[in-house]
Amino acid sequence: MQAKILIIEDEQEMVELISLYLTREGFEVTPCNTAEQGLASFTKQLFDIILLDINLPGMDGFEFLQTIRKTSPVPVIIVSAREADEDLVMGLGIGADEFVIKPFSPKVLVARVRAILRRVRNLSAPKELLQFGPYTLDREGYVLKKGEKKIDLSTREFEVLRLLADNAGKTLTPEVIYKNIWQQQYGDITVIAVYIQRIRKKIESQPENPVFIETIYGKGYKFNRS
Ligand code: CA
Repeated sequence: MQAKILIIEDEQEMVELISLYLTREGFEVTPCNTAEQGLASFTKQLFDIILLDINLPGMDGFEFLQTIRKTSPVPVIIVSAREADEDLVMGLGIGADEFVIKPFSPKVLVARVRAILRRVRNLSAPKELLQFGPYTLDREGYVLKKGEKKIDLSTREFEVLRLLADNAGKTLTPEVIYKNIWQQQYGDITVIAVYIQRIRKKIESQPENPVFIETIYGKGYKFNRS
């Protein structure tokens, strides 16, 4: 699977350089010139890694990082000309995973990206069977069982549940769920709420008070494995 990388950097030349190298190495890049644009892309799509500049017009890189960390553990590499130690410490304190100091060699950047992806994928390589509560979800077999009893889910319901379960702990917006399951850029995303209700009726003992698929008000849905 091609890794998706969000690049947030205001210097156009730098964006082009980074994009060029990463694309050449087989990554799919989404370049943004401001943190605001970056946030807009972030809410619409799932990324494997974010490359983040600190000095940006408008919202700066630190603020961006704090904002996304409220809902997402996505790996973030800060790519910055700032060298002061306190900036590095602050970045790590609010959840950056790595630093690359400008000027940098593209090879170093690509190596860092690959190292982080290896680490993350080893940790979260999807296993075929995913357990939550009394349930076992067979990811590839499209089967959900409660103990030995099979739960009847439509293909789409299963796919929505699997996407949420694969991203346990992260809040997924209806846009992200829609784009991932329906593979379309635009469509009626209100359908997601309908699917969530149906899935809850099948897996939650109190659908109106859900344990597994939590609603994060104003943001989306979060899966809990407990
Ligand atoms: Ca900058």
